[in-house]
Amino acid sequence: MSLPEKYKKPYESKDVESVVYKRELNSGLFNPDMLVQKFPKKYADSKTWTSITPPPNANGRLHAGHALDVTLKDIIGRYKRMQGLQVLLLPGSDHAGFETQVVYEKKLEKEGRSRFGMDRAELYKEIYDFTHVNKETVTSEIKRIGASYDWSRDTFTLDAKVVSGVQKTFIKMHEDGLIYRGKRDCNWCSKHQTSLSDVETDKKEVVTTFYTFKLGDFNIATSRPETKITDKYVVVHPDDNRYTSYKHGDTFEAEWVLGKSTFTVIKDDSIDPEFGTGAMTITPWHSGIDFAIAKKHGLDMVQLIDDYGKFTDVAGELKGLKATTVGRAKVVEILSEKGLLVDKDENYKTIVPVCYKCETLIEPQLKDQWFVKMESLAEIALQASQDGKLNFISDQYRKTFEHWMKNPIDWNISRQIVWGISIPAWFKNKGTDTEEFYIGNTAPKGNEWIKDEDTFDTWFSSGQWPIATLGFTDSDDFNRFYPTQLMETGRDLIFKWVPRMVIFGLYLAREVPFKDIYLHGMALDSKGQKMSKSKGNVMSPIDLADEFGMDALRMALIVGNAPGNDIPVSNEKVKAYKKFVNKLWNIARFVLENTNEEDDNFDTTIDNIHVENFKKVKYEITKNLDNYQLHLASEELYQYVWHEYADVVIEEIKKDLSSENKKVLRYLFKQILIVTHPFMPFVTEEIWSDFADVSKDNLLLVQDWE
Ligand SMILES: [Zn+2]
Repeated sequence: MSLPEKYKKPYESKDVESVVYKRELNSGLFNPDMLVQKFPKKYADSKTWTSITPPPNANGRLHAGHALDVTLKDIIGRYKRMQGLQVLLLPGSDHAGFETQVVYEKKLEKEGRSRFGMDRAELYKEIYDFTHVNKETVTSEIKRIGASYDWSRDTFTLDAKVVSGVQKTFIKMHEDGLIYRGKRDCNWCSKHQTSLSDVETDKKEVVTTFYTFKLGDFNIATSRPETKITDKYVVVHPDDNRYTSYKHGDTFEAEWVLGKSTFTVIKDDSIDPEFGTGAMTITPWHSGIDFAIAKKHGLDMVQLIDDYGKFTDVAGELKGLKATTVGRAKVVEILSEKGLLVDKDENYKTIVPVCYKCETLIEPQLKDQWFVKMESLAEIALQASQDGKLNFISDQYRKTFEHWMKNPIDWNISRQIVWGISIPAWFKNKGTDTEEFYIGNTAPKGNEWIKDEDTFDTWFSSGQWPIATLGFTDSDDFNRFYPTQLMETGRDLIFKWVPRMVIFGLYLAREVPFKDIYLHGMALDSKGQKMSKSKGNVMSPIDLADEFGMDALRMALIVGNAPGNDIPVSNEKVKAYKKFVNKLWNIARFVLENTNEEDDNFDTTIDNIHVENFKKVKYEITKNLDNYQLHLASEELYQYVWHEYADVVIEEIKKDLSSENKKVLRYLFKQILIVTHPFMPFVTEEIWSDFADVSKDNLLLVQDWE
């Protein structure tokens, strides 16, 4: 065979990658049904191996972290497919509720528009169109990375089947007594006008003033005087000796912000006598801790601050003032003029909750929201973990997971945003004392029922992702592929996503949704810093691949990247693996120049030192892939190809191109292509076409690993 023309030039990744991906995609072999249909001998009786891919948010382009995510999954998927398993890597994308709406709101802001005042349907349509354009970009970028995903099963969280399934789950949970409607303290962002779950808030350290005011016989310390205007309960610890002259329930009159007022003393052992003066007034509507005390003792609750952060009617002459700024100053001024300011510490450091998107101070608000009772659900999930049904690749994450499950907090699943799956609930006399609700897909008879305008927290739908993508529990795909084998995702999702999927899996399907949990670290820039838009150090995997080739990028993301650790990515590192790709190309040229098909019938039973050496390396690579130690497998591969096969085997055989040696050379090189393929699919598949007849879908993709 004469040397194909292409080897007379250096390897051109850009030309090859799109051609190879099309060749593989068009074969249909990313779809496990086609594996069985086209290669029944290999696949018909084999097991399925499934990994549901985390849906990237359909609101922007991919970054290096996404590329890492796709690469890890694709390497393992390609390896399992070659081993003979019916592999399903199931792709999808997430509408990403609040995340996407925030991105879209910024776009509106730039255009001088605002979502407030926009018609709901119109806003939904605009975000839908925006998301769809992005979704296409994201999909094409994932394909560039070489993802051997089954696109025929691609799922979007707003597909009709997902929406109806998610709503059904809510109805079922309500029937099972796991959903309640409750007035409870919620994290409220006054900029975004929505409640947020705890994981959607950040903690921020601030330096502020800590005031002490005189209230009757008590001294009250606070860093938020503006919330104290309508307080009427003073709470102390029952054992605090300083306050023995007051019994629980005693009342007294005292001068306060709006004039003379009556106060009631409450004794509660949740109060820390060491903090401040050991006495505090409570604001149940605007503090979770105070709410718990008020609920326990059946106390009145008053809304002092509205949804926009301004004082309500109950603040009298202060009504309408912005609470945290002018409102606070005004309250301090009034109390000092009355001689009630005892002390102030202007260097008081404290931690406050802020919106994770806009850093607005979270103002707790009592709101009627839908909650999921978490206790029994978390208990089952904890049990599954303790029974060893979940295999965390880095064990540190098991502790995190179990801690979460031991301390469950009821989950607020209502969001006051348009962009999401609507809650199948209906109200009569909403907002009044006679309010009633009904849960179901259609409204009950009578035209007084109105639809709940809230949407589900996005994690309520993505928590059901492994089940939703397989068509829910009554579908063929579900029976065939559930439970899945691997969940591979970013380690930041150990809180937001992984526990919820385990809970929904156990609740809806009575089985954990996946066995192995591989949480990867973050892709960092070359200086080891987190990539962020504001720092301007975000690396586009597509730009890197344009310059150095996708195979080189995939290797750079994997080598040196132990599970769970962060990985620095630099142009230099990617460039180094470009050299490795070229090396493989040059080796291919040498092998093709010196061997042909006649050298293919190598007898593997013959003793040969080079073949023996290779077997050992392959054994190690296989073992490390089985244990998800991809960084070790890729390193071994690199060392072998460069420093053993090229430096030793080729150099030796060059000196004696006997028929026997040619066979060894060719046999080992084809083996190299097989073990290298999962890591560098493009260049290997391209070279493979010069070593095998690739018609009839005899692609490297489906060659036997063993
Ligand atoms: Zn916000």
